[in-house]
Amino acid sequence: MLVDCHTHVWLADSQLTPEFCREAQLMRTTPIDMTCTPEQHWAELGSQVAKAVVLAFESVHLGLSVGNDFVAAYCRQHPGRLFGFASVDPHWADPVAELERAKHDLGLVGLKMAPVYQGIHPLDERCLRIWAAAERLGLPVLFHQGTTFPRRAPLKYAHPELLEDVALAFPDLKVWIAHWGHPWEEETIVLIRKQPNVYTDLSGLWYRPWQYYNILRLAQEYQVLHKCFFGSDYPIATPAATAAGTRAVNDILEGTKLPRVDLDQLEAIIARDALAVLEIEA
Ligand SMILES: [Zn+2]
Repeated sequence: MLVDCHTHVWLADSQLTPEFCREAQLMRTTPIDMTCTPEQHWAELGSQVAKAVVLAFESVHLGLSVGNDFVAAYCRQHPGRLFGFASVDPHWADPVAELERAKHDLGLVGLKMAPVYQGIHPLDERCLRIWAAAERLGLPVLFHQGTTFPRRAPLKYAHPELLEDVALAFPDLKVWIAHWGHPWEEETIVLIRKQPNVYTDLSGLWYRPWQYYNILRLAQEYQVLHKCFFGSDYPIATPAATAAGTRAVNDILEGTKLPRVDLDQLEAIIARDALAVLEIEA
């Protein structure tokens, strides 16, 4: 059974925007069904995962709001299996108060943030107060630090390298960078190599097989595969498809002498319990 550190749940009609759902189709060559209710999430993932992180998501900038109460209510239905992560927007008047409420009143165990979606520099004062609170509250942070499809999501805030100063300023804050920070996987690799509390996840990449192979091969050469968590980015992909796509990463090399990604290290990622690494308990 898998531990999936990156899954979404939302009501596409009311919590996302038509523009967002339309632009999301840029991610894959096959149509993506963006509907992803709690019932669908559990029907799909309940049989595939031992434990899953379920993410709230707030972006004033793009008009998206998958709220903390919504995620918490779903996770409460499956204690010990689902682990809710809060989200707050740095533009709010008091995101720290909401983060405290999310932890103490709602039982959420981490924080999902995405400066690129939220249209703000991760070193802006309004963000720094959130990183300080997350460190103080012992909440690990999943950063979407990497590119994304919405036209209005600014690439200047997307680089993984921007988290170096966050890691140095908040040394006890545990963070991971979604999707190897693509297409800046080199930045992610060198960052996680030297920052002990910075990790990454492999979600949402396997359907670009040449890029995926190159990311994992480079990460192997830099010896950082042990800092990668398993995740699917559901509903963009399922955990089962992600595991299969990861095990198949060397298939495109058939007939070549190109270096293979070590399958034992890939199995270790697939078997990794990110929640245990992050010391999150039910
Ligand atoms: Zn995601």
